Amino acid sequence: MLCQQCAYPNPDENNFCGNCGAPLPKTGGVTLKDLVAAGLLKAGDELTISLRGKDITAVLLADGKIRYQDKTYDGPLAGAIAVRGQTCDGWFCWKAVDHTAGRSYGLSHYRSALLKQREGKSQ
Ligand SMILES: [Zn+2]
Repeated sequence: MLCQQCAYPNPDENNFCGNCGAPLPKTGGVTLKDLVAAGLLKAGDELTISLRGKDITAVLLADGKIRYQDKTYDGPLAGAIAVRGQTCDGWFCWKAVDHTAGRSYGLSHYRSALLKQREGKSQ
């Protein structure tokens, strides 16, 4: 995720920014697999990422991995790096279509939705 202080893109599992050391916001350990399990995203959903003005399409798998061309990537960050050839915050770079809303959002939108669901359940 991007550091709130310096905008440096950190791997999702980091608790602190690798560049400036600021604490990173908690993601609740949400993975793409969790989003599929919660029904927020579906296996087979198209994920798009923009590269030099074009949308590149990959496919979300049931186990939360990302299939792009002939390879499978473990998560949003690995997939984004593979496609773009540079690091970016995979949770913001990738977009997926929200079937009920009929428009696409960054993956972080779905992650927030799941975190909200979880909060609701624990109260
Ligand atoms: Zn930072």
